[in-house]
Amino acid sequence: MTKGSCLCGAIEYHVSGPMRPVIACHCNQCRKSSGHHVAATSAKRELISIKGNVTWYQSSDTARRGFCGVCGSQLFWDGPGSHMSIFAGTLDEPTGLKLSGHIFCADKGDYYDIEDGLPKADQDHPDMTTQVAP
Ligand SMILES: [Zn+2]
Ligand SMILES: [Zn+2]
Repeated sequence: MTKGSCLCGAIEYHVSGPMRPVIACHCNQCRKSSGHHVAATSAKRELISIKGNVTWYQSSDTARRGFCGVCGSQLFWDGPGSHMSIFAGTLDEPTGLKLSGHIFCADKGDYYDIEDGLPKADQDHPDMTTQVAP
């Protein structure tokens, strides 16, 4: 059972199942909303139980972003499909997870480079974003 929370603790969540390796997303929406790029794992939606009031921002026609209205922590990206993304920095440690790749690298900020040797995709990459931890 993995736990996580926002910065102020008003929102807590539990994940009662496997989580995907962490993928960094460098798209414009992730950068604007987080202040840098985002790093997220994901889990089946029904395995995530949330306590507290998540504020949802509809960031596109197909996805919304969940954050704490008190402290502003961004916790979730909820899009199409059976899984919901969980921003890895909000997980309590040990997470047991590893950063394993980068997506939307074509949209990355001009003030940093991605040079950790992990796989990079210019846009979304289903092989990376749909894999699930064993
Ligand atoms: Zn909070
Ligand atoms: Zn993104």
